[in-house]
Amino acid sequence: MKKNLFALSLLATSTLVFSAGDVHWGYQGKDGPDNWGNLNQEFATCKLGQQQAPIDIPTKSAAKATAPIKINYKASSGEIINNGHTIQVALPDAGGANLSGVDYQFLQMHFHSPGEEKVDGQSYPFNAHIVHKSADGKLAVIGVFFKEGAENAALKDVFAQMPSKEGKAALKGKLDPVGLLPKSLAYYSYAGSLTTPPCSEGVTFYILKSPMEMSKAQLEQFKKLYPMNARPTFPLNGRKVTETN
Ligand SMILES: [Zn+2]
Repeated sequence: MKKNLFALSLLATSTLVFSAGDVHWGYQGKDGPDNWGNLNQEFATCKLGQQQAPIDIPTKSAAKATAPIKINYKASSGEIINNGHTIQVALPDAGGANLSGVDYQFLQMHFHSPGEEKVDGQSYPFNAHIVHKSADGKLAVIGVFFKEGAENAALKDVFAQMPSKEGKAALKGKLDPVGLLPKSLAYYSYAGSLTTPPCSEGVTFYILKSPMEMSKAQLEQFKKLYPMNARPTFPLNGRKVTETN
C-alpha cells in the first residue's frame, strides 16, 4: 500500500514538472503577476526572488560602469512567434554583443507594452527586450524603450509578419536587430530575472537610456494583439544600478 502511494506521488510530481510550461498565466486577475508564484511550484521564484525584474531605475544613485556595449549584430533569417504572451523573433544567425567584457550570442527579441522598466518613475508605451546567451549559459538582456514618433522600419517588418494567433511563421528575408537600436548605447545596468514565469534570476539587464521612436499606428498594431503585457516593477532590495554616459 505504502509502495503504491509512493508511486502515485512520484507520478503526480513528474506530471507537475512536465506540465509546468503549460500552466496558464497572464497579466490580469487570478493568473496575473501578483499570483504567478502560486500558480505552480516551478514559478516559486516569482514570489520569493529578491532580484526580480523589471525595476524602476533610480538614476541619481547609479554608480559608474566602465564597459561600453559592443554590438556585432547582422541580418539573419529566422522565425516570428506569437507565444500567447508576446511576439518573439528568433534569429539564429544574428551575431551577438560584448557586454561587460563577456561575449554573448543573440538569442531572441520580444516586446512589451507598456515598457516594463521605468526610469525615475517615468514609463514608456513600449519596449523591446533583446535576449542574449553566453557560452556558459548566462543570459543578458538589452532593453530599448520606444516613444511615439516616426515609424520604425525594423518593427514594421516584424509587425507585418507576426501571427495574429498563437503560432509561428518563418521570416520572409532577413532581419537585422540593429534596426531597433538608438545611436547612443549608453545604458543603466542591473541584476534581474526573467520578467515572465518561471522568473529565474541571474539575468543581467542593460537598459538603453536613449529611446527609439515608433508610430502611433505601430503601437496600436501591437496593442491589438497585446494591450497589456508588462510585469509591474520590483524593489531593488539592495541591488546597485550602474550606468555609462
Ligand atoms: Zn521581456
